Amino acid sequence: MVQAIRGMRDVLPPEARRWRVIEEAVREVLHSAAYEEVHLPLLEFTELFARGVGEATDIVEKEMYTLLDRDDASLSLRPEGTASCVRALQENGLLYNQTQRVFYSGPMFRYEKPQRGRYRQFHQIGVEAFGLAGPDIDAELLALSATCWRRLGIAANVRLEINTLGAAPARRAYREALVAYLTPHQGKLDEDSQRRLTTNPLRILDSKAEATQALLAEAPRLPEFVDAESHAHFAELLGMLDALGIHYVHNPNLVRGLDYYTHTVFEWITDDLGAQGTLCGGGRYDGLVERLGGKPTPAAGFAIGLDRTALLHEVVHQDPMAAGADVYVCSLDSTQTAAVLGIAERLREATEARVRMHMGGGNLKKQMKRADACGATWAVLVGRDELDAGMLTLKHLVNGEQQTLSENEAIACIVANQFPGSSG
Ligand code: AMP
Repeated sequence: MVQAIRGMRDVLPPEARRWRVIEEAVREVLHSAAYEEVHLPLLEFTELFARGVGEATDIVEKEMYTLLDRDDASLSLRPEGTASCVRALQENGLLYNQTQRVFYSGPMFRYEKPQRGRYRQFHQIGVEAFGLAGPDIDAELLALSATCWRRLGIAANVRLEINTLGAAPARRAYREALVAYLTPHQGKLDEDSQRRLTTNPLRILDSKAEATQALLAEAPRLPEFVDAESHAHFAELLGMLDALGIHYVHNPNLVRGLDYYTHTVFEWITDDLGAQGTLCGGGRYDGLVERLGGKPTPAAGFAIGLDRTALLHEVVHQDPMAAGADVYVCSLDSTQTAAVLGIAERLREATEARVRMHMGGGNLKKQMKRADACGATWAVLVGRDELDAGMLTLKHLVNGEQQTLSENEAIACIVANQFPGSSG
């Protein structure tokens, strides 16, 4: 048997059911805030990510799935969605003199070391807002993510960490100061940080190595480099979060791994998943549109990792999620299958219940066994007599009560989830 590629998981029931519940909840939150969905390609020119995410980031340096097209163009499976989203809106003229609030959902690919919560194909729901420079949109994005956690019943298990990186010149000045401070102590840095000293020095702040952290204790501090305007933006944002009742921790070491962030950056983190505790990350990226060839356009966004959100959801809500079907349709006359399929179709349409049609014949006992096994609340029994009379038999599988009804009466019972006059 050919097996799946390492780090590329199959998401099967019941996990897939949990994914659907989460995705639906998040979509509803985003729809309610009038964000529009976009669908973007999985493959883009490699250059888009090199320029957008940054040549010196881990993602571009060593984590992309890059391939040559048949005409020798270098393509990469998208490692994240923001660069593609900017490309798509820009290319279609949707960024010029307009504001846009959009979201997308789908798989991303990074060649990382797989472990629980970290995969080579993982799923993100990304949310981006363009053309809005104020801290109000940062606050809206954070409020929307907080609402998602509340809807999913995991709000008590996540915390918000937030920081400001300042505008690009402040970030550059800090980068230089940090490199100047760390270079004479290079030998004491952990291996990753030594490499990052020349490629992506801000990421050294993220290092978990004790010796590195000890060195950093005396290092120049980012907040001292951040420009006054950025401080004011941040202070205003924190004031809005206070007013909204959104708790946060200001973590001055939070920098995020992608190059494009400026001003606000944030992560929603849980302590319930071990090492891979970041469920969602985002921030402001005012320079990205220009960097990708567009006009300067303020922008901010975040991405929720669905895999990790589902893991946390499972820790908090251990139930396996509603499985199987709500209604099981038994066909007791094998010559009438098409007519019974028609009944099942009409029940699906009219009730929105999950209606599973029995397949493969067999006697009533066998079919009822299947109905019980799939956890259905109702069985619909259709034999020759019922079809001739234009009726069907509806049986409540929990209390055993059954009635012979017209299709419309049965639909009403299924929708009400009880027989008329019954206590359910
Ligand atoms: P990023 O695009 O790195 O800002 O990540 C945003 C979110 O995507 C993270 O908080 C994770 O939930 C999720 N994520 C990123 N990389 C992975 C991965 N390799 N496996 C699973 N989830 C990931």
